[in-house]
Parts: sequence; structure tokens; C-alpha cells
Amino acid sequence: MGNKTLAIIKPDAVKRNNIGQIIAMITEAGFKIKGLRMTRLSKESAMKFYEVHKERPFYGELVEFMTSGNCVPIALEKENAVAEFRKLIGATDPAQAEEGTIRKKYAASKAENAVHGSDSDENASIEIAHFFAGESLL
Ligand code: ATP
Ligand code: MG
Repeated sequence: MGNKTLAIIKPDAVKRNNIGQIIAMITEAGFKIKGLRMTRLSKESAMKFYEVHKERPFYGELVEFMTSGNCVPIALEKENAVAEFRKLIGATDPAQAEEGTIRKKYAASKAENAVHGSDSDENASIEIAHFFAGESLL
């Protein structure tokens, strides 16, 4: 089981000024922040990041949304990080998300759902490299 995952505070949550509250929930849940920045994804970068979804009907909408403003990618560390972080963020659709999860609290809809979390150890490595390539994260 890996101990790293990539979170992104998505543009909807950045616009609503929820960066601080979301980071507090993440650190209170025992995750260590290993890397953090704010950036606006280019269309090319967003298309690459969500390449796995390129055949899905919502791909265009997803890329549009993810490039609509600043986002905050965060490299996180915790034992069993991928599963633990997905538990903390809750279901993709906030209407299905459990009480106490980040999406339940801060997501507006299935599309604009406040946060991203890697879905496997392999993708966590790829996604951390996407945002923090060339940086040595201690
Ligand atoms: P993420 O990968 O962002 O952590 P997830 O793993 O819970 O989310 P995925 O199935 O990987 O969900 O979908 C990626 C993202 O695409 C979702 O977080 C959401 O922003 C968007 N999305 C998913 N399903 C839909 C949909 N039916 N309509 C519009 N947008 C969607
Ligand atoms: Mg996903």
C-alpha cells in the first residue's frame, strides 16, 4: 500500500474562498503536506491530466471547468493515502457523499465537486509528477 496521493482543490472551491477550510480538514485527518502550489491549468494540461476520461460524455465540460480558474494541487502523505483520502473527500456526487466529508461540505454538484483525489497508487505517482515534476518532495 502506497503512502502518497494527489489532491486538487478545484476552481469552484478556490472561487468560493474555501482553500483554508479544506486544507484544515485534510491536515486534521492526519495527512502531511509534501508539496503545494496554486496554478491555473492550461487546456492541454487539463486534457492530459484527465486523459483517462477522454471518451466520457462529460470530458469537454470537465476540462472547461478545471481550466476556469486557479486550482491548488497538493501532494499528500499518509499510510494508505489513496483510500484514506478518497474516504475523506466522499462520493463524486455531493448528494451521495457522507456527512463529514469534504464534498458533502463544500461541493456544489457532481461536476463542480470541490476536490480531486487520486484513485490508485500508480495514478498518484503520475499525478504528483504532473504538478511537481523536477521538484524533490521530502
Ligand atoms: P476526481 O477524479 O476528480 O477525484 P472522482 O474520482 O470522484 O473525481 P471521476 O469518475 O474520476 O470521479 O470523475 C472525474 C471528475 O469528472 C469528477 O470529479 C467530476 O468533476 C467530473 N464528473 C464526473 N462525472 C460527471 C458527470 N456525470 N457530469 C459532469 N462531470 C462529471
Ligand atoms: Mg477520479
